[in-house]
Amino acid sequence: MSDEILPAIAGEVLTDDADLDGAGKDWGDLVHARPRLVVRPASVTDVAVVLRFAVARGIPVAARGAGHSPYGQGQASGGIVLDMTSLPPRRTVTGDLVSVDAGARWRDVLDATLPHGLTPPALTDYLDVTVGGTLVIGGVGGAAHHHGMQTDTVAELEVVTGTGDVITCSRDDNRKLFDAMRGGLGQCGVITRATLRLTPAPARARRWKLFYDSLPAFLADQREVVRDGRFDYVEGQPLPVDGTWRYMLEAVAYYTPPASPDQEALLSSLSFLDAETLDTTYFDFLNRVADGEALLRAEGSWFHPHPWIDTFLPDSAVEQVVAETLAATGETELGALGLILLYPVRTDRLKTPLFKVPDGELAWLFSLLRTGSPIDPLHNARLIELNVDLHRKVRALGGKTYPSTAIPRSTADWRAHFGSSWPLLAEAKAQYSPTNLLNPGQGLRLVDDGA
Ligand SMILES: Cc1cc2nc3c(=O)[nH]c(=O)nc-3n(C[C@H](O)[C@H](O)[C@H](O)COP(=O)(O)OP(=O)(O)OC[C@H]3O[C@@H](n4cnc5c(N)ncnc54)[C@H](O)[C@@H]3O)c2cc1C
Repeated sequence: MSDEILPAIAGEVLTDDADLDGAGKDWGDLVHARPRLVVRPASVTDVAVVLRFAVARGIPVAARGAGHSPYGQGQASGGIVLDMTSLPPRRTVTGDLVSVDAGARWRDVLDATLPHGLTPPALTDYLDVTVGGTLVIGGVGGAAHHHGMQTDTVAELEVVTGTGDVITCSRDDNRKLFDAMRGGLGQCGVITRATLRLTPAPARARRWKLFYDSLPAFLADQREVVRDGRFDYVEGQPLPVDGTWRYMLEAVAYYTPPASPDQEALLSSLSFLDAETLDTTYFDFLNRVADGEALLRAEGSWFHPHPWIDTFLPDSAVEQVVAETLAATGETELGALGLILLYPVRTDRLKTPLFKVPDGELAWLFSLLRTGSPIDPLHNARLIELNVDLHRKVRALGGKTYPSTAIPRSTADWRAHFGSSWPLLAEAKAQYSPTNLLNPGQGLRLVDDGA
């Protein structure tokens, strides 16, 4: 890297070992690529100055949100990491839109919107990831069968392109950049601001946990409720119980008293064996992962490696892939406190060109949220190999692997992932960021630079 000095910026430039080590680590704790500098921009201009400086000198740059990637996706070996959480908070609700800085966490977005009686319709399970960090990959949650991905709820983005230009883009303006940024792995620029569509926020959430012994029965009920949309939120989990697998369908109906959900109408056609009911405020439901986080932090495994994989399976293959994977998965492969997610998304709700799922009416999110070993890198390497095996198997069956996954990915792999949308990304890249320097941790080199 060039030793030239970064031009003066309003934000901070950090070079302490602790800061560089921190930026060379993420939630996955599997890839460690230390940058040369960490920049905490104080403005969009700072972001543009850094990008122009870096690109002119061939220095890699990664934007970093909350650092919750599993496999170095937000790292830049020997380069510059832009800490997007340092942008000044700009969170404004106007009508049914909210405009936020890209470093805002979804929790911050809710803080801004709920006092107005409004909410983002599509939220991740975990609220402490940033708007920029999920908009470049998709942003999936239990309301996806109604509202699609978080990328489907974006009205406008402000982007600093890889050439250092500040461009506002939307469906109507600079459409190519708008389409290339949503789900485009941050290859064409850095998102600095997002305007998101909102819907009325309910007051409360009634949540049913429905238990099954049979995988086919569980899948059939999930298909039914996602197709008819009777619940506001649907997710599910295979659960290891006494050496076998049970299945939990998690279904939620939002409401605002005096109205209340009609339990009989919602549940009577379903074939679950047992049920639990919980009733909370809407926000407490959205914030449900916070309790689990506190437990895992106290117990220690929050800080262990996380070789996570998220896939989207075609409906035709879901039963086979899930059954085979579960048969080969025990505590060794998942970790004592690991988790598996399994739920369908209606593909007709997905409008983001670069967000890829298998063909067909339903695509099933199937995630193995493994906890690795804090002391045994060989064990973690084996878990990554298992991820690679699953990724290949899913791809051969027409499925897709979500970008936020702990596997090494090559340009050829991404090309296969994006399929017919690859030219969209490649053309936008050629126009807005014609180097391979931006967000290199994603592992794709769109520009043929002879390297
Ligand atoms: C406990 C937990 C629960 C999760 N639950 C969900 C879930 O329910 N649904 C879901 O979809 N995901 C979920 N994830 C995955 C998570 O949303 C993704 O890994 C996400 O990319 C992380 O966001 P981040 O803000 O931490 O970004 P980082 O990890 O910091 O960055 C992610 C990627 O985005 C790029 N990036 C970040 N900010 C910008 C920006 N402003 N402009 C351009 N590029 C940028 C980075 O360079 C990197 O490539 C979860 C992760 C964890 C740890």
